[in-house]
Amino acid sequence: MEINDNKIPYTFMDNDAKATVYPDRLRTSIAKTIDVDGDHFLSDKEIQEYLLMKNILKAEKLMDPSCQDEKHIKHDFSLALQKKPLPQTRNYHSYEQVVCKLQELEKNHPDLAKTFVIAKTAEGRDVMAIRISKGASDSETGKKPGLLLTGCHHAGEWTSMEAPFSMAERLVESYGSDEQVRKRLDSAEIWIVPLLNPDGYEFSRDEYAFWRKNRRPIQESEVPPEIAAGMTPDENGVVAHGVDLNRNYYDGNPEHFQLYRPKSDTPESTGDDFGMTSDAPDSEVYRGPSGASEKEIQAVLALWMKRKNIQGIVNHHNYSKNILYPWASSPDGVPNEEVYKEIGRRMSDAIKDDTYIVGRSCGLYPSSGDADDFAEVNDRLSFTMEIGNDFHPESKEEIDKLCNRVYQADMAFLDWIVEHR
Ligand SMILES: [Zn+2]
Repeated sequence: MEINDNKIPYTFMDNDAKATVYPDRLRTSIAKTIDVDGDHFLSDKEIQEYLLMKNILKAEKLMDPSCQDEKHIKHDFSLALQKKPLPQTRNYHSYEQVVCKLQELEKNHPDLAKTFVIAKTAEGRDVMAIRISKGASDSETGKKPGLLLTGCHHAGEWTSMEAPFSMAERLVESYGSDEQVRKRLDSAEIWIVPLLNPDGYEFSRDEYAFWRKNRRPIQESEVPPEIAAGMTPDENGVVAHGVDLNRNYYDGNPEHFQLYRPKSDTPESTGDDFGMTSDAPDSEVYRGPSGASEKEIQAVLALWMKRKNIQGIVNHHNYSKNILYPWASSPDGVPNEEVYKEIGRRMSDAIKDDTYIVGRSCGLYPSSGDADDFAEVNDRLSFTMEIGNDFHPESKEEIDKLCNRVYQADMAFLDWIVEHR
């Protein structure tokens, strides 16, 4: 059929994703226009509104327009709606390739790298961590100061995976030839969990590039009746798929519970939801049925909470060229804000060929159950780095540039930790 330039064609996805992907208003208007061959059209205006509502495009007041490649994002979104894989998928490593490469690094450099399977996902994939340090395989670890780097809390944020993943390779393989790397691995431990959300990531590669959550089926029985009443479970009692992993943090300390669920936000209602966080299982920012309900989050919390030497964390995300520090759940400053500002400035200065703005996480938008907030209350310094101006940058060259910027910033943080141990 003919395609009008001003309209983006799409077909409903076959699975439950449609319930999450399309807002009710849009779905209703679309339902009216269903035609026989199942093709439908959205206007530019509808697409724009939808992308803003989903925070796929960010409102101008939130960010400098140069931090957003609007044209490319819309182009990729139209492909995703048509269920076409993005052509740049091949420029990003798959789950299998990530696992193989990490195992290969350990096999070829046992004195520098050790891998761990820290969780099994709902779909049976391994969440891998790699510890990189001189003497990585010794039982005598944990004495050097450590930095943890995570990637891909959010499935469709592809360079957030690629940056920490490529860093593992770069650090291990250049130990013998790069004096700075040698010094860093001699004096510190770097933990990397490049692909925290492998189920969501693979779904975003194959099915819908803008998928955000993990892929765990949410049972009707996990949802308060008031919310379940508006949902239609499938034959297995599943009402939706996935939890937003960066809304699911909770360290089990009742004094910290309001960082997972602010006081005014009740589980039985979605009308009182806090900021960009929701109790609706079909929302893309669903916090989950309870704090740390998700295995991925239990695993990453266990990793750093039991290792006191891990003093700093960088959680990588896409996009907006920001280096953010707590709180996400309050506009107030943290007690040690000056330290965050100093490290943030060093990280930003280390990026020579681009500008990253340092600021409070809540300044981008408020959310709860956030990784950095829980690290902060457990005496770790934790940043969220929002990489680049797009979710799925296209060329290999651009991806490499972004990875190098992240490398420079993260190493500046590591150097600060080693100096202040
Ligand atoms: Zn993210």
